[in-house]
Amino acid sequence: MGKKILIIEDEKDLAKILGAYLEVEGFEAEIASDGQEGLKLFEEIKPSLVLLDIMLPKVDGIQVCKKIRESSDVPVIMISAKNGEMDKVIALGIGADDYVTKPFSPLELVARVKAQLRRYEKTMEPLTDSLQELSLGRLRLNKTSYTVWIDEETVSFTTKEFDMLYYLASHENQVFTKEQIYQGVWGYSEIGEDNSVTVYINRLRDKLSKYQIDYIKTVWGVGYKMTTVL
Ligand code: CA
Repeated sequence: MGKKILIIEDEKDLAKILGAYLEVEGFEAEIASDGQEGLKLFEEIKPSLVLLDIMLPKVDGIQVCKKIRESSDVPVIMISAKNGEMDKVIALGIGADDYVTKPFSPLELVARVKAQLRRYEKTMEPLTDSLQELSLGRLRLNKTSYTVWIDEETVSFTTKEFDMLYYLASHENQVFTKEQIYQGVWGYSEIGEDNSVTVYINRLRDKLSKYQIDYIKTVWGVGYKMTTVL
């Protein structure tokens, strides 16, 4: 089940278009066409984010936002037809997280939705968890849960694959010999007969290449490094 996004917007065509764009990205979109219905749906579906038009029938967007803020700090992105600095000041003053002015590109709005969700989820994570997390290009790794995300999608790696990926990713641009990688990942001081490092490097490359990622580079005569630079 995708994250729920509540769209409170009385322009039905616009609401539908936004809903369609969000659903393509894997979100579940629910639409309310006035402020009253919006508040009711907000309580019912407990959305992860709200897109909120300012000029709405029954209860306007500003009142809706204030009401939401009495009980929740979910991200709220305000939408307005008016292009005035006053709106922006009001929107941010009543606790909205972001603000767009019509006309806007649906894709840009989707990007802002994702950015707000990321920011919000970060603030929700326990501190120790975030310390165990690192990002490299399109990759995100969490050492506590042994999770790897590529473009926000979870991708499965074995424990050893994860260990090696984390080791390389946490030393971006640093070149390692096979011996160093072996020591860093397996913890032995001597590299044996086996070619575990090469085997695992190849496995990681295979998995990443399915996402057109080739961050693991061979440095001829030395070893390997991980970098996002081509
Ligand atoms: Ca409106």
